[in-house]
Amino acid sequence: MTQVIHQPAREIRVVDRSDVVVVGGGPAGISAAVSAARNGATVTLLERYPYVGGLAAGGMVLVLDDMINELEVTVRGICMEMIERMKRWDLCVTPTERDRLIEFRDTPEAWQRWARWGLFDFHTQSMPHPVCFSAAFDPDGFKRAAYDIIGESRVKLRTHSWFSSAIVEDGAIKGVICQTKEGLQAIMGDVVIDTTGDLDVAASAGASHVESNFILTTVSRWGGVDTEAAERFEFEEPEAFKKLDHEAKRLIGGCWSFWWLKTPLPGVVWLNCPHMPNLSGLKTEDLTRAEIEGRNRIGRLLEFAREKLPGFENAYVVDFAPQTGVRQSRLLDGEYVVTKDDVMNRIHFADAVCRGRDYYTPYRAMLPREVDQLIVAGRHYSSTPQAQKSSREIPPCMAMGEAAGVAAVVALNAATTVKKADVRAIQKQMRAQGADPGDRPSENATFLEAAE
Ligand SMILES: Cc1cc2nc3c(=O)[nH]c(=O)nc-3n(C[C@H](O)[C@H](O)[C@H](O)COP(=O)(O)OP(=O)(O)OC[C@H]3O[C@@H](n4cnc5c(N)ncnc54)[C@H](O)[C@@H]3O)c2cc1C
Repeated sequence: MTQVIHQPAREIRVVDRSDVVVVGGGPAGISAAVSAARNGATVTLLERYPYVGGLAAGGMVLVLDDMINELEVTVRGICMEMIERMKRWDLCVTPTERDRLIEFRDTPEAWQRWARWGLFDFHTQSMPHPVCFSAAFDPDGFKRAAYDIIGESRVKLRTHSWFSSAIVEDGAIKGVICQTKEGLQAIMGDVVIDTTGDLDVAASAGASHVESNFILTTVSRWGGVDTEAAERFEFEEPEAFKKLDHEAKRLIGGCWSFWWLKTPLPGVVWLNCPHMPNLSGLKTEDLTRAEIEGRNRIGRLLEFAREKLPGFENAYVVDFAPQTGVRQSRLLDGEYVVTKDDVMNRIHFADAVCRGRDYYTPYRAMLPREVDQLIVAGRHYSSTPQAQKSSREIPPCMAMGEAAGVAAVVALNAATTVKKADVRAIQKQMRAQGADPGDRPSENATFLEAAE
């Protein structure tokens, strides 16, 4: 039988008050906070860990993709600004323009140049996958760029603040309570944006949602790798490579076709593996298990790689990502639930406020049905589990965050609620700040009367 205890009611100090409170300092949260602040709102950004960046920094997920529709770059705005900042520090790599041209992008030469960076369009069926605009970056570069734009836009950042519960009155959110070293703290806001990735705020506020899960991963980085030798072996001795790669994959026990990818740091690669299914990103026991199991599998793989794989003779583990790789946990069941068909068939919505590669995200998919003044942005947006699997990459989450920040200010300026925010005004402002809200559909968009 589950035992429970009752806690006495207690007073909680209000430590801050802002027009907009953003909970979760990952890719979506950084964009939401900066976007709202640049539009004139006072903004508090809360993050549980000591650093910002979410899975793109602490999770060491080091490729920004899913941001193009053929040759058109569909995710721009703050995401592109971060890429440009990191490129200035040599902490971000994008394929050359030439290799992205139609006549070159799906040639084996172009593919071999960029494959081990993971910079190709893996959504196409054609093999080799065409090279496309996408970016391989360094996690500390992402943090540095994020801190710069957060500081420049005067966002009030509070790290070490673990969201614990929502303050809701008369159907609207009024603020949040965080657990900190100083005890519980309340932060009040006129609009709250949930960018925790796990829908912590909206779930606590009583918003309908579904619980789902996909594979968990403990990402790691290895140093001391002679990537040139490893690539030479792969491309010049394909049969021998295949055999060893097969054995490596057996030891990993689940991974994508490229289990290691290059990073901007010479000799340092990142491992987007292992895949660990049937574990929940919400359960303490499962998260603990994933950390230990992931490390064990990578330990065995390293031994094998050092012994057998050309280029890996002197490899060592640099670090394991401090943030566990949770791809999917809670998903909002909001005013509109995006389906896999919507994503795959590129359904255009009149209330689109941002885009992923070739699909469109309606503003309604960022709004809980039951709670007002709360906007949801990032990987936990209102979508079916299948739709989320192909629309949760970092750039689309950043685009969603940027739109959420704009929407909050549009509503505040019009003295209305976020549910009644003028979508045309959100779209107009997104364009004005260099983002693509998806209001002007691309040629390959599909129009359904119901979707409009
Ligand atoms: C292993 C792995 C590989 C992936 N590969 C790629 C890839 O190659 N390319 C790509 O583009 N995408 C990839 N993805 C997907 C992508 O990383 C995520 O979908 C994306 O980062 C989601 O951004 P987000 O801001 O919504 O959430 P997150 O990145 O999860 O950020 C959420 C933030 O909220 C904070 N937070 C959570 N709960 C609380 C709380 N209670 N209180 C305070 N703060 C809180 C977290 O610490 C974090 O900073 C991958 C994901 C994983 C796990």
